[in-house]
Amino acid sequence: MKRQPSKLQIKGFIQNSLLDWDGKIVSTLYTPYCNFKCPFCHNGEIVLNPQKLETIPFRVIEDYLKNNKKWVDGVCITGGEPCIYKDLPQFIAKIKKLGILVKLDTNGGFPIMLKDIIVKKQVDYIAMDIKAPLDLASYLQSIGIKNETVLENVKKSIKLIMGSDIDYEFRTTVVPSLHNEKDIEEIAKFIKGAKKYALQNFSAQGEMLYPKFKDVKPYHIEILHRMQRIASTYVKECVVRGG
Ligand code: SF4
Repeated sequence: MKRQPSKLQIKGFIQNSLLDWDGKIVSTLYTPYCNFKCPFCHNGEIVLNPQKLETIPFRVIEDYLKNNKKWVDGVCITGGEPCIYKDLPQFIAKIKKLGILVKLDTNGGFPIMLKDIIVKKQVDYIAMDIKAPLDLASYLQSIGIKNETVLENVKKSIKLIMGSDIDYEFRTTVVPSLHNEKDIEEIAKFIKGAKKYALQNFSAQGEMLYPKFKDVKPYHIEILHRMQRIASTYVKECVVRGG
């Protein structure tokens, strides 16, 4: 990972989004850098070169939320990977002080931070990515780095989330060259009994981390629905996004 700021910064601010928290209108905040380098990532600039992006002062975010609290339900903190920052809990506390809901997006690579946030009940919703079936070879292939401790951390995070009383979802971006029906079934089996599992269709839009993924065509939506039927036999709810 390139040198990153020790303090959490915001490098992207979408004032209103209907896509980042099912059923809610949220403001979405992007933190820079990530411990993974998923080849299909479409946030290349945020992950690799966030120094080129303007840092949004907290005051700007705070003013917007205060002035629009009537209809903005909450804030989605995403990245990059927000959990790489030690001051994430303090940042969340500042948002919560505004009396607004908070959703955290994470790749599950930092179970100690996640546990801290869960124990303090700091967030109202957690969305955790599961990038591949939970075996080392598949996982490392999907996250683009060679760090063998990652898988154990991801498994710990899944356990923490499923054992918590915070609302949550797991989600997989389904990429044709990386995932097939069997893989989705393996993931669903691993999270058997989970409240919600979202299958997100791959999209080559945005700043791809690996330009060759620009040419990958997403699965036909019917294949996603087939995967949904398979996963639904293991989890309480499985949804399909994108298409
Ligand atoms: S897709 Fe992968 S590399 Fe991109 S932000 Fe998410 S976890 Fe990080």
